[in-house]
Amino acid sequence: MITASAAGRVNLIGDHTDYMGGLVLPMAIDLATTVTAVAGGDRIELSSAMDHDSISIALPADDPAGVSPPWGRYIAAVAAELGARTGLRGAVTSTLPIGAGLSSSAALEVASALALGAADGNPAPGNTAEAVELARSCQRAEHAAVGVPSGIMDQLSICAGREGHATLIDCSSLHLEQIELPPGAAIWVIHSGSSRTLVGSAYAERRRTAERAAELVGPLPGADPDRIEALEDPVLRRRARHVRSECDRVRQFADALAADDLVAAGALMCQSHTSLRDDYEVSTPSLDQLVRELLATPGVFGARLTGAGFGGCVVALAEPGADLRPSAPGADTAWRVSPARGTHLHLS
Ligand code: ADP
Ligand code: MG
Repeated sequence: MITASAAGRVNLIGDHTDYMGGLVLPMAIDLATTVTAVAGGDRIELSSAMDHDSISIALPADDPAGVSPPWGRYIAAVAAELGARTGLRGAVTSTLPIGAGLSSSAALEVASALALGAADGNPAPGNTAEAVELARSCQRAEHAAVGVPSGIMDQLSICAGREGHATLIDCSSLHLEQIELPPGAAIWVIHSGSSRTLVGSAYAERRRTAERAAELVGPLPGADPDRIEALEDPVLRRRARHVRSECDRVRQFADALAADDLVAAGALMCQSHTSLRDDYEVSTPSLDQLVRELLATPGVFGARLTGAGFGGCVVALAEPGADLRPSAPGADTAWRVSPARGTHLHLS
């Protein structure tokens, strides 16, 4: 019997920087997806409480596009990436909200990769290099499964996630630094109530635009701010300005956490939201409103949209005593999350 769990993640700061080779600071959280299965045979047969239809995938897996129900595409793509040979029979369960921006998709990929790896006799990643390799496989699987050219942050923050820490990732070198969260820092994730509809197409468009800017001024994380401000096209200029300034904020935020300066960290989160709203133009009126309300709540140091934007969640940094559950009945949903280890693999 294999029990393989992978956490969700929340990005504390650094959005729309990963695919440009910039800095991000996500943390694996104490909500997770678990694959519980018996190894054997040559099919992956899994049920999920999320969907009454089960998946049945023949190994070796090939093109995930034809797999139904669609959540099986993630698992077929992972199996194809890993060259999985041994089947699984069991169930997927999760304490993560699905489709809310806490990366249930990457949690599903990583949990199934651990389970399929174990079925073929492979241990869980034992060091950073192996964590990076597993994350890369799962990132490629996500591309193959849904066709969105997302960066490596989700998978890597889960594969490398350590209890009590957020992970500073340099997405160009994949250098990792574990940053301890001070005991006085409480992290909340609050859903804005609007789902992330346009995310696929708008995400790909933002990425293409940022890449055009980088062709003109060089890699954006280290680009000369004067050259960015001299860009003729105002849209390219704003997009490049966000990526450049956001990478600086990630570094400053990590330093603020290390110095236990939560006021400074909170201010950087607010600047990040403004930059995502005005320069990258990925916020929405409901995300902006939620950030304003949170900033007016006692005990809140800072808040920002987290993830790709266009709906989804806000992350807030608050005092441990603050209660950020929304008061309006039936409105948003909120989770107080703690930094957790990202993966668990148990064989019995
Ligand atoms: P997020 O990663 O932010 O939660 P995504 O849209 O990227 O949102 O991924 C959500 C998709 O991942 C679901 O629509 C489903 O296909 C798949 N998924 C995630 N968790 C599960 C689960 N426990 N069971 C089945 N499918 C899941
Ligand atoms: Mg996802």
